[in-house]
Amino acid sequence: MLNGFNQHFVASVVASSLFVITRFCSSSTMLQKEKLMKSTTHYIELGGNYQYWPVLVPRGIRLYTYEQIPVFLRDNPYITDGYRAYLPSRLCIKSLFILSNETVNIWSHLLGFLLFFTLGVYDMVSVLPAAGASREDYVIYSIGLFCFQLCMLCSVGFHLFSCHRSEKTCRRWMALDYAGISIGTLGCYVPGVFYAFYCNNYWRQVYLVTVLAMILAVFFAQIHPHYLNKQWQRLRSAMFCSVAGYGLIPTLHWVWLNGGFSSELVQAFIPRVLGMYVIAALAFVFYVSKVPERYFPGQLNYLGSSHQVWHVLLIVMFYWWHQSTLFILTYRHSHPCPDLITHT
Ligand SMILES: [Zn+2]
Repeated sequence: MLNGFNQHFVASVVASSLFVITRFCSSSTMLQKEKLMKSTTHYIELGGNYQYWPVLVPRGIRLYTYEQIPVFLRDNPYITDGYRAYLPSRLCIKSLFILSNETVNIWSHLLGFLLFFTLGVYDMVSVLPAAGASREDYVIYSIGLFCFQLCMLCSVGFHLFSCHRSEKTCRRWMALDYAGISIGTLGCYVPGVFYAFYCNNYWRQVYLVTVLAMILAVFFAQIHPHYLNKQWQRLRSAMFCSVAGYGLIPTLHWVWLNGGFSSELVQAFIPRVLGMYVIAALAFVFYVSKVPERYFPGQLNYLGSSHQVWHVLLIVMFYWWHQSTLFILTYRHSHPCPDLITHT
């Protein structure tokens, strides 16, 4: 039997234990609730065989349709859904791990960056020493690969932060993305001109200086406040084409200096230059035409859109050109320059 005091003591112990248990239970349910609230399931429409795809989206991030995003983000009406928007920097970075219509764009160039970084390390450690490279070769190769890496990173930055809530920030990243393409083009020209005119110091300097001046001019145009205006769209395309097309002048000059199309070196290297132009032209056509999503509006929001093809072709083009310059470097080291041309 319990006396009055003991009864009171037991009752208070039971009450406090019940209180602790209830608090514990309620706090654990609160935790669970909080966890559930932090990520909400979002059903996205993929089109084709996959009608709906459930995606866990962290709290604060949601996907919008083309009509719901701010006007300055509207660029491609054929991509109808899957847009991130109105986000602070922290959530822009977090959105790297969700499926949106920019996921493939971000990751393709992030992997592209890793590819050219690894390629750079491999070249420095193994390929260049085996080819008997000089200090100059190391510098030229580093410039080329560094430009490719920078181009990839600018693109990653733009696609990652294009959902930023501030229009100014978005536009800055967009300008950097365009500037990145100029840097990538420079990365193609420098090793190309350097090895093509390896035995002709005068023309090598002329073309390197003109290319540098042209790309700097485009670079400064790209950071001009009006550059991103819709009215300048044609001018942007024209600039891009003239920077790329300019390369035909040193190419034809190089063919002529090396004895025309019958020369062994020209026959070996010209298909590589033409291959480069075919990839670049194809990439540009996808970029401006918005094909294939133009014919399947809303069906290629997440995978298979023209900008994703443009990204992949850009990596293929840089890789192709890197291998081509490696070919001409090896050729130059195994075929010394004829004296006659070296000193002109
Ligand atoms: Zn892009």
